[in-house]
Amino acid sequence: MSEETLPMSEETLFTKIINGDIPAERIYEDEVCICIKDISPQAPTHVLLIPRKPIPRLADATAEDQVILGHLMVKAGEIARLLGVDEAFRLVVNNGADAGQTVFHLHLHILGNKTFSEQGLGL
Ligand code: 5GP
Repeated sequence: MSEETLPMSEETLFTKIINGDIPAERIYEDEVCICIKDISPQAPTHVLLIPRKPIPRLADATAEDQVILGHLMVKAGEIARLLGVDEAFRLVVNNGADAGQTVFHLHLHILGNKTFSEQGLGL
């Protein structure tokens, strides 16, 4: 089969990072998720918590994913503690392009070491 006729890879950027095909600075990993430093941080502490399962968007998650979603929330708190930002951090999930999602593999942004405005959710 020529290169032109090979099927396009359906792996997401984050699956490639999970598989070690693209390097990333890993903060934490277990059998369900990994946590990496964001390549373009929007706060002094900015990490991404990513399930190994490539759920495209939060809106695509189903009841079948309940254990994964619960795991991510518990780990978000643990990782915030690990990073020393558990007293003040923001957890952000962008769902869909118009909400700012650019990588269609569910991920939680954990942002900290920054004073966030009480007035709004803008970063
Ligand atoms: P989204 O905009 O989809 O909510 O978030 C995607 C995040 O992934 C962005 O904050 C972006 O900086 C980060 N990102 C994009 N490409 C890479 C990469 O190759 N490595 C890492 N570590 N983060 C990335």
